[in-house]
Amino acid sequence: MTAKLINGTEIREEILKEIEAEVKEIKEKHGKVPGLVTILVGENPASVSYVTLKIQTAHRLGFHEVQDSQPGDISEEALLALIDKYNKDDAINGILVQLPLPKHIDEKKVINAIDPDKDVDGFHPVNVGRLMIGGSELKFPPCTPAGIQELIVRTGVETSGAEVVVVGRSNIVGKPIANMMLQKGKGANSTVTLVHTGTKDLEGHCKRADILIVAAGVPGLVKPEWIKPGACVIDVGVNRVGEKISEKTGKKVAILRGDVDFDAAKEIAGSITPVPGGVGPMTITMLMKNTLKSLKVKLGIA
Ligand code: NAP
Repeated sequence: MTAKLINGTEIREEILKEIEAEVKEIKEKHGKVPGLVTILVGENPASVSYVTLKIQTAHRLGFHEVQDSQPGDISEEALLALIDKYNKDDAINGILVQLPLPKHIDEKKVINAIDPDKDVDGFHPVNVGRLMIGGSELKFPPCTPAGIQELIVRTGVETSGAEVVVVGRSNIVGKPIANMMLQKGKGANSTVTLVHTGTKDLEGHCKRADILIVAAGVPGLVKPEWIKPGACVIDVGVNRVGEKISEKTGKKVAILRGDVDFDAAKEIAGSITPVPGGVGPMTITMLMKNTLKSLKVKLGIA
């Protein structure tokens, strides 16, 4: 059996086109576009490349985008003041502070300083609470879990009544996606099990899963024989396992592997995400969707 490939790059394009059309329509009707500020502290190369991608995507969608780069030695006080400025800025609907921050800055304080109604990353405790309550309370689902749910829904996988097993309990992936899948409603209503390093029978739990979501950060953790035939497998893991020379650019690039043995798993699963090109492309897309939603809420059209 060869699984259906869940192509995150194609699904991203589909969603970006939908957002682009909505932005155009809102601009015509209301004279407003979503405003997103990305705050980058220091010059960590990975952060610079993530922020660049976010800015390019916002730009392509016709957002009002502000790029605010700050030196790595900015004081915590000055960063909090900057966030306060954007909290009060009417043209800004989403505030994104690129993490991680330098060690002298308390990340929690910074996240807590963002107006929850502009917290498009969905990391503020108010938004974590809204996610837990679910339904109409949910405002900004965190971007990677939101992307995972979109992939499942757009692949046409039945979630209602499905056994969902989530491997990993991080605050940015495992806990929120587990919470989202157990809510009542479309793309959810599942029976959810969350497993981690304290779990006794990881293999046994995985074998029961109709939908297996793996976010452990351990290359090849999930063996093909742990996969229920026909299951939907979402591999969130992005693990650098070496380097190679890119055929396109001639430059050194990382060799990436997921948490699932893809080549063997695709012969057993019903549908599966590749790494790269599965969950990865969805995260920034969902950030854009959250920023658009923030504007829509403000205009009373969400
Ligand atoms: P994390 O904070 O390191 O959490 C990993 C979780 O996996 C922990 O809860 C850990 O359990 C669990 N785990 C680790 N080894 C395990 C094992 N052998 N058996 C069972 N559970 C195990 O990682 P994260 O931030 O959630 O990220 C997970 C992976 O997803 C990483 O590879 C990351 O790069 C990737 N990721 C991708 C995207 C994207 O594509 N957009 C976004 C975010 C993350 P304990 O809690 O018991 O330690």
